[in-house]
Amino acid sequence: MSDSIMPTYGRLSVTFEKGLGAWLWDTSGKRYLDALSGIGVCGLGHAHPAIAATLAQQGSTLIHTSNLYHIPQQQQLADELIRLSGMEQAFFTNSGAEACEAAIKIARLYGHNKGIAMPAIIVAEGSFHGRTLATLSATGNRKIQAGFEPLVQGFIRAKFNNIDELREIAKNSHDAVAILIEPIQGEGGINIPDDNYLNAVRELCHEQGWLMMLDEVQTGICRTGEWFAWQHSDIKPDVATLAKGLGNGFPIGACLVQGPAANVLQPGNHGSTFGGNPLACSVALTVLKIMEDEQLVARTEQLGEQICTNLKQAFADETGVVDIRGKGLMIGIELDRSCDVLLKDALEAGLLISIQADKTIRLLPPFILSDEEADELVTRLVKVITTFLATETVCSLGKVS
Ligand code: PLP
Repeated sequence: MSDSIMPTYGRLSVTFEKGLGAWLWDTSGKRYLDALSGIGVCGLGHAHPAIAATLAQQGSTLIHTSNLYHIPQQQQLADELIRLSGMEQAFFTNSGAEACEAAIKIARLYGHNKGIAMPAIIVAEGSFHGRTLATLSATGNRKIQAGFEPLVQGFIRAKFNNIDELREIAKNSHDAVAILIEPIQGEGGINIPDDNYLNAVRELCHEQGWLMMLDEVQTGICRTGEWFAWQHSDIKPDVATLAKGLGNGFPIGACLVQGPAANVLQPGNHGSTFGGNPLACSVALTVLKIMEDEQLVARTEQLGEQICTNLKQAFADETGVVDIRGKGLMIGIELDRSCDVLLKDALEAGLLISIQADKTIRLLPPFILSDEEADELVTRLVKVITTFLATETVCSLGKVS
């Protein structure tokens, strides 16, 4: 491999050259079932004809102007996102980290507007919000922060899914102005909070005058069997960040606001050269239209249940599988041991997955899976995991003797 690319990624030794639906083909012609969707991005699968048509049509009409001018596609996309989310306003970015940066800036400005000189944002252990300086400072993973000190100040760290700790912070901190959490932690290992957690956070935020900010970069846009994961409860955040699934691979993100977070950002406070350009917004409009026309929110929920039920059945007697958890097509299979090596085993078996938090296999398959493809995914995965657990047991037994 050429060394003209900075070595920031530990890449697997495979190169894909084409895709169709839930499948990818490598340069040798081998076919892979994509159960990761480019890390939760290509919910509509690869080479979707309607997206290709939008790219061609808008690309040959007008790709980019500037946020110095009105952009009708941006207005339409904002209207659609507002309709689906019940939020009030949108700001468009090019990535998830940028959407979270916007949220962080909104929280700080909101704090300053209330006369708080050093506003602080409560963030969770095990969280992930991006790789820019502010978002890596917000992220609850030392590995991601190490070497980049001094970190951005103004974050208070709390345990995820622990409302009592948030109540303690409320008692002791006069500078807290917002809380930023993922409704389900993705990079942290598919950590799903208790059913009433988001409701309790919402109530506390109301009580304290804190902005409730949800990072829906991974969970948003149909992934969990709702348009937005907060819609599984009967609450609405003040700020929500989106990216990944919104463009199905075309880079676009968004920060949505409502209530006390609306109109906090004023002219000159924030901006982006590319954010919300005609091409990105046209693609995202097509993505939302397909999801709605094909009722993929309901389908995602159903597929998730099918996959989780089948996995639970297959591993009912397997002690090496500690937990199988998921919402919609955001699924984690936690093993009792480190399993990074499974990435390569799965690749060999023609299956794309990821490993999070050392022991959890993460699935983020596309929403357009057929029932047969969903079954095929389970068959391949069960085989890979079963073989891995059997070999590992033999190895460790070998070590003991
Ligand atoms: N927030 C969450 C919850 C994410 O999962 C990610 C990426 O994995 C990000 C933010 C950062 O998004 P991006 O890589 O597009 O900057």
